[in-house]
Amino acid sequence: MHTHTLKELSALLQARKISACELAQVYLQRIAGSDLNAFLHVDADLTMAQAEAADLRLAQGTATLLTGIPIAHKDIFVTRDWRATAGSKMLENYTSPFDATVVEQFKSAGMVTLGKLNCDEFAMGSSNENSHFGPVKNPWDHAAIPGGSSGGSAAAIAARLAPAATATDTGGSIRQPASLCGVTGIKPTYGSVSRFGMIAFASSLDQAGPMARTAEDCALLLNAMVAFDPRDSTSLERPAEDFTASLSAPLQGLKIGVPREFFGAGLAGDVEAAVRAALAEFERLGATLVDISLPKTELSIPVYYVIAPAEASSNLSRFDGVRYGHRASQYRDLSEMYRKTRAEGFGEEVKRRILVGAYVLSHGYYDAYYLQAQKIRRLIAQDFAAAFTRCDVIMGPVSPTVAWDLGDKADDPVANYLADIFTLSTSLAGLPGMSVPCGFGSGEKNGKRPVGLQIIGNYFSEAKLLNVAHCFQQATDWHARVPAGA
Ligand code: GLN
Repeated sequence: MHTHTLKELSALLQARKISACELAQVYLQRIAGSDLNAFLHVDADLTMAQAEAADLRLAQGTATLLTGIPIAHKDIFVTRDWRATAGSKMLENYTSPFDATVVEQFKSAGMVTLGKLNCDEFAMGSSNENSHFGPVKNPWDHAAIPGGSSGGSAAAIAARLAPAATATDTGGSIRQPASLCGVTGIKPTYGSVSRFGMIAFASSLDQAGPMARTAEDCALLLNAMVAFDPRDSTSLERPAEDFTASLSAPLQGLKIGVPREFFGAGLAGDVEAAVRAALAEFERLGATLVDISLPKTELSIPVYYVIAPAEASSNLSRFDGVRYGHRASQYRDLSEMYRKTRAEGFGEEVKRRILVGAYVLSHGYYDAYYLQAQKIRRLIAQDFAAAFTRCDVIMGPVSPTVAWDLGDKADDPVANYLADIFTLSTSLAGLPGMSVPCGFGSGEKNGKRPVGLQIIGNYFSEAKLLNVAHCFQQATDWHARVPAGA
């Protein structure tokens, strides 16, 4: 059963050929037998209770297309029944009194929660090695990182431990792990999906999205996720849209912008070859390639690594030992309690970002760093606006290389930051972007490691991105490849 896509499982459930309980059992068994460290919290009783409720809805005729489908949530979404740790010691034993909007949306559609997925601490990272609960292994090659910060989500989908997962993307955390694990993921336009109950990292960038095997599955999931939420101050109010409606629209005449800056010196040859082959496939499908330029691409790294830490330092001030989570056990006074709590509760990377963030926001440096970064952020968005006068979508690599070895960049934060070069600008501009499997690296080791194609669109063009991705997946089978042993 685990070999089916979400769409196929939905049809089997609706036809009552399988039950939600059977399906949940299959996945719980697979999770129990996995050594990838993708899941942080599993509770079979809770899962089975939801599966029984789903079967009841299917029997009563009140089911939706998602009823009975298992889903796992990145542990950055708060959940009333499962713990929510954000991959941090700070929240090791934290359980929320409420569900995140996204969790609630899937619950009310009748989806069955399988558990919570490992991620980099507070979603800060590109390799999942910053999790307090240990790294996740890449299902394609256990010596490789799965990408981050949503490494657990991508690994779980690739290893067939779940047919659907939630993830979040602040600077690439949906697209990059999807790319490195060979699965499909979409980060919607900023403001489309509620941030309520998503443990905050950088609020002006954070955005939730789905991961699954195919674009069609992502469309079905996005249908449940995109909605106005009065509890999120940046949530957008827009007419409802069916993201499955135009999946198969022909690509004849599609103009694909190919940014020069995405194919420069830093791009590995094997990744470039796979991405260029995907572009050639699109030409066969009737699209034309347009040479474009996004001149500020390089600046997206310094800009993001000023803005995201600035917002993080503010968001993470709430973890003070009083209101949430961990509190140091011994201290002389309040100030020592704060210091010890935060010194013990946060990991290295989180501390680094709090320091950088507090620095760039401090009196005397605010204008030089934070304000300057905000100005360049606007220019980055203008690069895209100019590009979209000449093309319908933009395509390029997601990551400059295939997944690297666990431990390789673990002690080098800057090397990790540089790996985000192709995903950050989309996030800074608030645009939607997705990753679609398009091949594998070359060479003995890299030959097993997936490559993702990035597809970026203008604001609210999710339906177009999914259409483009779906047509590609109808013509190729990269998304259907399965890692050995899964
Ligand atoms: N890799 C980036 C970072 O470390 C992006 C993370 C994310 O999108 N959550 O901040």
